[in-house]
Amino acid sequence: MDAMLKATGTAGMVAEETLDPVDWADVQALSHQIVDDAVDYLRDVRERPVWQEMPAEVREFFAAPLPQSAQPLAQIYGEVVENVMAYPMGNIHPRFWSWYMGSSNFTGALGDFLAAIQGSNLGGGNHAAALMDSQVVDWCKQMMGFPPLASGTLVSGGSMANIIGLTVARNVKAGIDVREHGVAAIDKPLRFYGSDQLHSCHRKAMEALGLGNRALRRIPTDAGLRIDIDALRSAIADDRQAGFRPACVIGTAGTVNTGAIDDLQALARLAAQEDLWFHVDGCIGALIAIAPKNSHRVAGIEHADSIALDPHKWLHAPFEVGCVLIRDASAHRNTFAVTPEYLESTPRGLASGQWLHDFGLQTSRGFRALKVWMALKQYGIEKFGRLIDQNIAQGHMLGTLIEAEPLLELIAPPNINIVCFRYRGDGLTGERQKALNTEIMLRLQEDGIAALSDTTVHGQHCLRVAINNHRTRRDDLDLLVRETVRLGQEISRPGTALPSPLVAEGGREAAG
Ligand SMILES: *Cc1c(COP(=O)(O)O)cnc(C)c1O
Repeated sequence: MDAMLKATGTAGMVAEETLDPVDWADVQALSHQIVDDAVDYLRDVRERPVWQEMPAEVREFFAAPLPQSAQPLAQIYGEVVENVMAYPMGNIHPRFWSWYMGSSNFTGALGDFLAAIQGSNLGGGNHAAALMDSQVVDWCKQMMGFPPLASGTLVSGGSMANIIGLTVARNVKAGIDVREHGVAAIDKPLRFYGSDQLHSCHRKAMEALGLGNRALRRIPTDAGLRIDIDALRSAIADDRQAGFRPACVIGTAGTVNTGAIDDLQALARLAAQEDLWFHVDGCIGALIAIAPKNSHRVAGIEHADSIALDPHKWLHAPFEVGCVLIRDASAHRNTFAVTPEYLESTPRGLASGQWLHDFGLQTSRGFRALKVWMALKQYGIEKFGRLIDQNIAQGHMLGTLIEAEPLLELIAPPNINIVCFRYRGDGLTGERQKALNTEIMLRLQEDGIAALSDTTVHGQHCLRVAINNHRTRRDDLDLLVRETVRLGQEISRPGTALPSPLVAEGGREAAG
């Protein structure tokens, strides 16, 4: 101690450094500018292209090496505006309908900012952010009709929510102490079940859980792409016969391909009869439970043992935030809780709160709750419910527009807010038709008109529109239909060759 004081004696002491600014007033002025710009950015999003390809200089900007010395913040902000803000993914745009994601909201962004300013770690402890984290989980339980004593946790997204739910399912149904002995000690191999429309994150979950992809049986679906309950029942019986241990059935409330919702009531009954864990992947559709006109579609979800839902989808929270709910709170805690000597609780003080890291795989956790909490308070759950109803009505409206357009055809009737369709093309089939539709999709993106994705449904390639967007209006859907037809006609005009990479797939034939 003495030696240390001597070595740094006041006389020769160098001023300590910090990351705080020397001049707070400068930072304040710049921050006001950033907020003003952010408001303009969001207000005018409709006027900009959905997406645009980055020029080579912008790509090169991201190859710059590790900065060694200081640079003024104002200059850095200028670089961000020029190279980052100008080239977004586009999912906040009213005509972004690719894959499946939310369109964010300004209040949520303020929440993320304030959460970062407070900087709290949601690993747990006795502080306000920790109580709010638990409160948002409680609100999710209320939205799903789950009992107050159920458990849950906020995670990075739906994939992690599913992994947490399936981990609890594995541990409860293994018949041994998996935490202590591992999956190799399970006497009969576990079997999980889901439909052939299951999201890919379940495969990753099975692999990470040490059960392997083959332990997840994909059950065929009916004409509406919902799990075939009879086929599921016989798969379970066959597996028991063959010496497996059926453990869990995963119901999907809203598949990625078409938004199909499994018969959750029937799955709940079957799971109870067969003594299986009933998990619902509700990343797309669980929140339909709050939508007055459509909540009947997810009836039965309240009987699940666990539910994965995704506030960064239909609650439009900025990324990332997912939520898993587990009916049996002790099963949840018993799956993850570990108390090392450096994380023991105290009767009072900072360490007297609940350890939230006991409910998942992370130790340090971000303050995800604030962005969700602020938006839920500002708009109320009724507005979010109406927005979900609105997107579903828009999905059906788009289906009607497509049916009325002879050059387009629906590949699956819309269930909720996902529409699968294609440009017919005169006498086009197979690879040629796929190439044409892919080209339409790419031009819609490159011209900044709309962002769609594509998929294959009932063995047929199609364009896919997922309207999970609170900014989409009816006009946007009219425009989509018009532009798809225009591009389809333009690309398939006799003498117009399909672009070579696409033609290459089906040989060297020219279109028309
Ligand atoms: C989006 C989605 C997931 C994965 O959720 P992330 O938030 O992207 O991790 C899982 N299942 C379904 C049905 C989804 O739509």
